[in-house]
Amino acid sequence: MSELNLILLGPPGAGKGTQAERLRGDFNLPYLATGDMLRAHVKEGSELGQKAKEFMDAGDLVPDELIIAMLLEKIDAEGDDGFLLDGFPRTVPQADALDRAIADRSRRLTAALLIDAPDEVLVRRISGRRVAQSGRVYHVDSNPPEVDGVDDEDGSPLIIRDDDKPETVKNRLETYHRQTVPLIEYYESRGILQRFDGTRPPTEVHDHVRATLATLRLEERL
Ligand code: ADP
Ligand code: AMP
Repeated sequence: MSELNLILLGPPGAGKGTQAERLRGDFNLPYLATGDMLRAHVKEGSELGQKAKEFMDAGDLVPDELIIAMLLEKIDAEGDDGFLLDGFPRTVPQADALDRAIADRSRRLTAALLIDAPDEVLVRRISGRRVAQSGRVYHVDSNPPEVDGVDDEDGSPLIIRDDDKPETVKNRLETYHRQTVPLIEYYESRGILQRFDGTRPPTEVHDHVRATLATLRLEERL
């Protein structure tokens, strides 16, 4: 069986991380989320973290050259048997760099999974998002923890991401529309875009994604 090389595409708050948690369980794929990687760099105060922080706090994208190097290193270290990318690529130069890197390794992308939702839904989602240290994601209304404010798994406190503040969210959505939406056409024209309605409940979105991947595997004998 050949590898699954998957991209999760979509605006902030659409449910990419939520679906990734489920898909990792289904397919046992290394999960490479550039946002999580950057937050770890910021936390440990690395040189990359210090450079990235101001862009992240403003809701802007971190410059391509920093992100591309970080992500390609991770793919080489962990992605030999396939991968699930979340939050990368976010610009056309990032997508081009990924294409080249994949082709150089005689591999190809299996699918770009677009999870989409209108801005007003995204704003509600992001304003109620609470995150555990492990990266597990909750929502105060739609997916609350058993006990208010703490992780079901290990009881550690849940946090509100710095960039989930309303004034930053507005710019993150604008940035998505300006810089990342062109990737929808990019992957559509390559015939690998798959669209999912992110306004549906998480279990339904998950069922649709799994069904699509199962079909792709049958069609291509992946
Ligand atoms: P992304 O990774 O795309 O930024 P998340 O997976 O972190 O998005 O989800 C954003 C917020 O919306 C979280 O609080 C999550 O619990 C909630 N959420 C995710 N998917 C759904 C859904 N299908 N319906 C309702 N709420 C959702
Ligand atoms: P996310 O966790 O995917 O919502 O990402 C949080 C923030 O990290 C973004 O708002 C950007 O500032 C930065 N970031 C994550 N991935 C990328 C990327 N591929 N390119 C540029 N910046 C990124």
